[in-house]
Amino acid sequence: MKRRKFIQLSGIGVAGAPIAGSFAHSSLEMKKAFVASPEVIVIGAGTFGVWTAYHLNQMGAKVTLLDAYGPGNSRASSGGETRLIQVDNDNPVYVRSAMRAYEWWKKIEEASGEQIVLSTGRLAMSQQETYRSRASERKRQLESQGIHNTEILNQDEIRYRWPQINTEDIIVAMYNGGGASGSTLLARKGCQAVAKMFEQDGGKMTIAKGTPIINKGKVEGVRIAGGNVLKAQYYVFACGPWLPKIFPELLLPKLKIERRDVLFVGTPPGDASFSYPNLPEWSVGGSGFYGFPGIEGRGLKVAPYPDDNAFDPDTDERLINPYQVKRTHDFVKHRFPALADQPITESRVCQVTNSTDGNFVVDQHPTSDNTWIVGAGSGHGFKHGPAIGEYAAKRILGEPVDQEFNKVFKLKEEVFK
Ligand SMILES: Cc1cc2nc3c(=O)[nH]c(=O)nc-3n(C[C@H](O)[C@H](O)[C@H](O)COP(=O)(O)OP(=O)(O)OC[C@H]3O[C@@H](n4cnc5c(N)ncnc54)[C@H](O)[C@@H]3O)c2cc1C
Repeated sequence: MKRRKFIQLSGIGVAGAPIAGSFAHSSLEMKKAFVASPEVIVIGAGTFGVWTAYHLNQMGAKVTLLDAYGPGNSRASSGGETRLIQVDNDNPVYVRSAMRAYEWWKKIEEASGEQIVLSTGRLAMSQQETYRSRASERKRQLESQGIHNTEILNQDEIRYRWPQINTEDIIVAMYNGGGASGSTLLARKGCQAVAKMFEQDGGKMTIAKGTPIINKGKVEGVRIAGGNVLKAQYYVFACGPWLPKIFPELLLPKLKIERRDVLFVGTPPGDASFSYPNLPEWSVGGSGFYGFPGIEGRGLKVAPYPDDNAFDPDTDERLINPYQVKRTHDFVKHRFPALADQPITESRVCQVTNSTDGNFVVDQHPTSDNTWIVGAGSGHGFKHGPAIGEYAAKRILGEPVDQEFNKVFKLKEEVFK
């Protein structure tokens, strides 16, 4: 991808309007050369950090992005193969954010030349008739946002389209036919593509653990390996599940890190019916399972939830829990009978970072006004990375933002009991 084309792409807004704070290639260079650009260190290159760094850089800041293990690494919450993007949410802030984010994911895909967004579709099945009215309400909401690919399906329609799913106990489903309302993001690849674009556009990426130096509540620098200290005007800590370790007094009571197991179930030889594009992203309400079609030859992805076991992202072994293996086999035997005798072909252990109210946190540190915390993505943060990064960058640089975002992403006083 040519650098000039990339800059041009990144300067186009959702509806084709220019995005405030982004520059054409030459003006970005000029601004950095002749205007005193603010210097920012972003710590963490998961979806929130990498996109914050990317937007700050586009807005003219001099940005250093640090990650202890690299963008989308195995320990990071953003390090899995796939993450769902959809826009249905009771809170309009998340709807707006996801729609904005989708446009950016598409742009970075085009700019990087890497496939990141797969239009898999999304099938939300239910064993309860009561889901029909909820699904109809969602359909109306999506249509009011200009999204017209939602269908409410009965059991026989689901069976007809996807005979590989056992629907005997399914009553109704909502199907979103791709785009912003039902696509799959290639997560690790996505983080790496944004980091690459950030670097190509003059951002500095360093593999190093950064530890804040705090004096009387104020962050004065970041210590990296060898005792070197990096200093900047602003510091952004987008450290996902590591955040409570970095600011324990502030965040340990407010964020909870929980384990998530993910299993891939083998498919029979020569059978593509469980793989993209023949099966959508799927879920069965109330079953404790959702998953993705086979992508990159990995097999059907099955994700059991919830799991409230605490997890340490540095030290805990990422070995699958035998209980989840048994649960998954039992579930698959019933829901995807053709896979009843198939083995688990791969597995991953990841973690989510939950806040007390389930909302993300994008806020200034209460005692250090040069320091921003961007995190608490919980189980739905990945898709929002581009929009949250853009919002965070604007707040840091003092540009106008959607005030509703400020209320939702504020670091709340509540703590986990
Ligand atoms: C199994 C699972 C399924 C999910 N499914 C979905 C989904 O379908 N859709 C969706 O939108 N979301 C989903 N999520 C949630 C989503 O993945 C997370 O909300 C999101 O990835 C969090 O991103 P982050 O940038 O906050 O954290 P991370 O991705 O964890 O990034 C933090 C980064 O900081 C680095 N770091 C930490 N400390 C330091 C330090 N001191 N110095 C330098 N670097 C440091 C780490 O190496 C890491 O790369 C899922 C999560 C899990 C676990």
